[in-house]
Amino acid sequence: MASFDSYRELFSYNNNNDTMSEARTLEREEPNYFGAGPALLPTSVLQEAALDLLGYEGDNLGIGEISHRSKPAIKVIDDTKANLTKLLNIPDTHEVFFMQGGGTTGFSSIVYNLFANYAKKTNGQKAKAAYAITGSWSKKASEEATRLGFEVDVVVNTKSQKFADIPPYSEWKAIDKNTAYLYVCDNETVNGNEFKDIPGPEYLPEGVELVADMSSNILSKAIDVSKYGLIMAGAQKNIGLAGLTIYIIKKSLIEQPSDEELRSYGIPLTPIAFHYPTVISNNSAYNTIPIFTCHILKLVTEKLLSEGGIAHIQKLNEQKADLLYSALEKYPGFYTLPISNPNVRSNMNVVFTLPSEELEAKFIKEAAERKLSGLKGHRSVGGMRASIYNAVTLHSVQLLVDLVNEFATNNS
Ligand code: PMP
Repeated sequence: MASFDSYRELFSYNNNNDTMSEARTLEREEPNYFGAGPALLPTSVLQEAALDLLGYEGDNLGIGEISHRSKPAIKVIDDTKANLTKLLNIPDTHEVFFMQGGGTTGFSSIVYNLFANYAKKTNGQKAKAAYAITGSWSKKASEEATRLGFEVDVVVNTKSQKFADIPPYSEWKAIDKNTAYLYVCDNETVNGNEFKDIPGPEYLPEGVELVADMSSNILSKAIDVSKYGLIMAGAQKNIGLAGLTIYIIKKSLIEQPSDEELRSYGIPLTPIAFHYPTVISNNSAYNTIPIFTCHILKLVTEKLLSEGGIAHIQKLNEQKADLLYSALEKYPGFYTLPISNPNVRSNMNVVFTLPSEELEAKFIKEAAERKLSGLKGHRSVGGMRASIYNAVTLHSVQLLVDLVNEFATNNS
């Protein structure tokens, strides 16, 4: 890899406008950014990736310019898969692959593919799917499955309680016999709740697969991949750039009937770019995979591995979340935590409100003065949201905690 200095000239420009004449470099002041996604990435990863955009592995062609079927591109895909396998301890029973399209494409591709797989296993039966609606993303996923004409059974829906809690499985509606999968959103990015366990056999009947959207918390904590039929995660929050979605699928869920068979069963065919068997048999490059985005994911996962893997990052994430929630809880009349059950509060997206919109605006303003940004809540729920993903440092969280303390003291 070339040194940063030798590339610095390539990056510098002199604009005639005096205010813009400062040379650009590959350095930056560390941001204290709490945006929900796209989100912060480690500076060292971005620096290396920036250099790789100009020339990859000693070549004068960058990583974004080479063919997605070239040897270096295939190696990026394979290395990223291997890193994910190591980090999450993915067993041989499961397969990792990537697709374009984000979490929203997951909402639709999951239904098509898993209903087709169910038909394969049952000689053409039409399945139904169980959806747990515990926040706005699982609600969207269930609405998409319904919109596409598949049979959906909502087994829990906490919308009327503003998604403030995740009720115990014993209170969920029982799962019907011919159900292909139970869909959950493991971390609800907008509302700020997170599952801290997964349903065991007392709730989830044998043969019903657990499907989880982990777009906003994948690689934040250890999970037992063997318990899942499918994990889907857009990369742009905790671990990468937009443009790539990670799928971890149980191998027994890959196989599907032929197109003719599906037609004869009256089960819709999956669009080819999102047809899991096709994507998997082409090592995630059936069509053009955004290889630069995959490369970023490779660098992020490499960094995680070198720093102690999931155990290390999980501990840090717990520490950050604990620090922030504890500070907010010290002022119960001032800060409100809409997730009423502390046991399901997200370690990634900390949602809170202040006594008035005026105070919220003042909080944002004072945060900006301290160079803390990205704190405004999602437009649908208002308030504040501090997303403290993997790349957000303990130092950034400490700066936010200082503001939380001082603001409450000065404005109560
Ligand atoms: N699932 C979750 C949990 C999300 O936070 C989001 C928002 N980015 C999505 C799905 C939708 O992702 P995308 O915008 O990539 O389609």
